Amino acid sequence: MKTPRITVIGSINMDLVTVAENMPEQGETISGDSFKTLPGGKGANQAVAAARLGAEVHMIGKVGDDPFGDSLLNNFEAQGVETEAVDTESDVSSGLANIIVSDHDNRIIIIAGANGEVTPDYVDGFKEQIEESDYVLIQFEIPKPTIEHILDLCGTLGVPVIINPAPAMQLDDAYWEKAAYITPNDNEAEKLFAYDTDGLPKFHDRLVITNGAKGASFFKGDRMITVPTEKVEVTDTTGAGDTFNGALAVALAEGRPLEEAVAFANRAASLSVQKLGAQSGMPKRGEME
Ligand code: ATP
Repeated sequence: MKTPRITVIGSINMDLVTVAENMPEQGETISGDSFKTLPGGKGANQAVAAARLGAEVHMIGKVGDDPFGDSLLNNFEAQGVETEAVDTESDVSSGLANIIVSDHDNRIIIIAGANGEVTPDYVDGFKEQIEESDYVLIQFEIPKPTIEHILDLCGTLGVPVIINPAPAMQLDDAYWEKAAYITPNDNEAEKLFAYDTDGLPKFHDRLVITNGAKGASFFKGDRMITVPTEKVEVTDTTGAGDTFNGALAVALAEGRPLEEAVAFANRAASLSVQKLGAQSGMPKRGEME
C-alpha cells in the first residue's frame, strides 16, 4: 500500500506544566511541587499522532525564535514529522500553554505567539506540498482568516480537508460545506451544529462526533451510527481527541471506508488514554494490531 500523505496546518505549543498542592490566591506566592515542559498544541499533536501511525506527515506552522522553538522542531524530527514548512518567526514567542495543576483545580493560559503568524500568505508558500497530500487536517488554534483561506485553497486544489473544530468557533456555512469531514467532540457539536441525540445536526453528512469512552458517531443518511470503543483502564485522556483525529486522517488517507476509519481512530485513542502524556501516549503502528 502507498504510504498515506497528510499535511497538518495548525498550532505548535510548548506546554509549561506546574504542579502545586493548591492554587495561589490573588497576590499570593506559593511553593510548587514540580515543573515540566511538554510539546503540545492541537496541530502538532495531531501531526505526531499521524506520523507515529506510519503516515508521511508534513507540518505547516510556525515556532518562535526562542529555546522552546528549537526544542519543538527537534521533537518533530524525533517523531518523524517533516518540518520544511515550519518557520521560526523572529520577535515573537513560541506558542505556549501555561498550565497550573493542583489537587482540585487546573488553570491554563494559552499564548498564541508564533501560531498567530500563520497567515494566508504563509500557507500559500506551500501550495505544492498541500496539493500532493491525500488529506489536509486543520484545527482552530490558528487565525480564522487562515482557516477560511485553507478551505478555499484546498477546494481549488481538490484536496480533501478534515476540520477538527477545536476550540469551538463558528464558520459561515459556505466554509463548513468545503470540509470533507468535521470532527467535533460532543460539546463542540452541540455548540456549532445544534446537535442533540434526537435530531439531525447541521452538516450531518460530514460529521464525525467523538464522545469520550462511548466512542464516536457518524451519519449514514439520516441514521446515526455509533462506533463503540473498547473499555480500557484510563491513565490520562490528554490528547485523546488529537490521537483520534491524527489516526482518522491516516485511515481515510489509506482509503478505508468511514466506519472502518472511525474504528481505527477509536482504537488509537483508546491506546493513548492508557498512557501518560499527550504525545508520548500515542500508539505506534505496530501497537495497533
Ligand atoms: P481531549 O480533549 O481529552 O483530547 P476530546 O474532548 O477532544 O478529547 P473525546 O470525545 O473525549 O474528545 O475523545 C476522543 C476519542 O478518544 C473518543 O472518541 C474515543 O475514541 C477516545 N477516548 C476518549 N476517552 C476515552 C476513554 N475513557 N476510553 C476509551 N477511549 C476514549
